[in-house]
Amino acid sequence: MSGKKAFVIGHPIAHTRSPLIHGTWLDTHRIDGSYEAIDVAPDELPRFFERLRSGEFVGGNVTIPHKEAVFALCDDVDPLAKTIGAVNTLVVRDGKISGTNTDYLGFLGNLDQNAPGWSEGLEDAIVLGAGGTARAVLVALRERGIGRVHILNRTRENAEGLAAEIGGPFQVNDFAEFSELAPRARFLVNTTSIGMKGTRFPDLPLQKLPNSAIVSDIVYIPLETALLSDARALGLRTVDGLGMLLHQAVPGFEAWFGVRPQVTAELRAKVEATL
Ligand code: NAP
Repeated sequence: MSGKKAFVIGHPIAHTRSPLIHGTWLDTHRIDGSYEAIDVAPDELPRFFERLRSGEFVGGNVTIPHKEAVFALCDDVDPLAKTIGAVNTLVVRDGKISGTNTDYLGFLGNLDQNAPGWSEGLEDAIVLGAGGTARAVLVALRERGIGRVHILNRTRENAEGLAAEIGGPFQVNDFAEFSELAPRARFLVNTTSIGMKGTRFPDLPLQKLPNSAIVSDIVYIPLETALLSDARALGLRTVDGLGMLLHQAVPGFEAWFGVRPQVTAELRAKVEATL
């Protein structure tokens, strides 16, 4: 019986699926702990950190709009979270608050589970987008040792800025170059918000990808974006974005409650039912 308490803070916080994910794992492992969603407005953040230091919680998750602001309040932030520029997980030990980012592990965990071997010998990958989530994806691809990562973004300067800031095997290209790059790319991932609300990339000739290519999306509402359904129609392997959301929760749960939880089909179905 641990009675350990964890949380997710954000503002607003009503739509978070994290309590469902962690609550399911607490039940599965019969841990006497809790995980609650707490609405913390930006000006209340320092006071919430005082509460944290008092030892009330073992840690928790951080979501919009606090992912950058918590940097200044943590006692330490790990180097990859600094590179990604956002903290989504806090761990409290002996009154010390450590910040980390588990999105890149979530991205890798999802692909490793649903497309085993996807990164073996992968020389060329294409990343669509250069926003906040692209940072975690680029760090993940760099850490996995992918040969060359082509970044295609609506605003080229944003991609150039990101590539320079993160540093890695990155090459910025224009969308117009997709047809030339695609035949060598065995991995394609969308990190933009395109795909939500029925939106789609206007001109992306997926048929130029090799038959062995894996196409992934980080958008998970809807679960099957136009990009994924187009890829599937061409017979390509696809991995949707829901797994990233589920897998990013694993390291936090393990750090707080001492058990490494599994992303099971049952958990996925439970969360999918709420989309
Ligand atoms: P963001 O920082 O605002 O970045 C948005 C990206 O999308 C930028 O590259 C932007 O290009 C591009 N973009 C937006 N509208 C576009 C349009 N009409 N045409 C072309 N490009 C467009 O967003 P984010 O926080 O990274 O989130 C992106 C998506 O990831 C969201 O749908 C979010 O729900 C999802 N997400 C999923 C997970 C998961 O666990 N699966 C985790 C986090 C986020 P410019 O640079 O040109 O503006």
